[in-house]
Amino acid sequence: MAAPLADALSLIYNALLAAFGHQHWWPAETPFETMIGAILAQNVSWTNAAQAVRNLESAGMLDPHLLTAADTADIARLIVPSRFYNQKAERIREFARVYVREFQADPTAMAAAETGVLRERLLALRGLGKETVDTILLYACEKPIFVVDAYTRRIFSRYGLLPEGASYDHMQRLFAENLEEDVALFNDYHAQIVRLGNTICRKSPLCDRCPVRVIGGTLRCAGGRA
Ligand code: SF4
Repeated sequence: MAAPLADALSLIYNALLAAFGHQHWWPAETPFETMIGAILAQNVSWTNAAQAVRNLESAGMLDPHLLTAADTADIARLIVPSRFYNQKAERIREFARVYVREFQADPTAMAAAETGVLRERLLALRGLGKETVDTILLYACEKPIFVVDAYTRRIFSRYGLLPEGASYDHMQRLFAENLEEDVALFNDYHAQIVRLGNTICRKSPLCDRCPVRVIGGTLRCAGGRA
């Protein structure tokens, strides 16, 4: 790898942006919808999560006060497409309670909290792991937190920039320590990674179509197939 890490990460992002265009994430109308979408997207495709969000919306339930007061069975019925719907109904209701009680159901109040304190508070909620919480912090609260996931591990380990079994924290440090702290960049970079992992760098990678296989003749994916 000729380029230092910071240069490599920037080159990869620029190549993805040139190939795919800006991804305009998160696909939601309001910060609260983003928060609920992040919980519904756990362990399922976005298509499934989006259907569950639409069901909540159509039923008039995409409201923190109503979710707080609802029976989990009623929430569960609406979010069946997101799978694990009983667990997710509990998580959504508990999250909505905290959002109402501690942040007055006001995304600005939540975003005003100190990032580390807010992260710890959300991580303390049952069923909310680092990826979900960081998604809420970045996409709903516009905090400069880089979200990583299984696609990140797959792509960047194939690239030779991460070990295969890299932990969440290890992956996150790669980006946090080598990129400018920039919410807009973090927002779209993660979205680009999901796009690449979803469409090209799949379990069986389609390297001949990959926009980052070789960049500028100097940077090359170590795991790329000829
Ligand atoms: S070249 Fe192949 S292995 Fe490397 S990132 Fe692209 S699709 Fe994945």
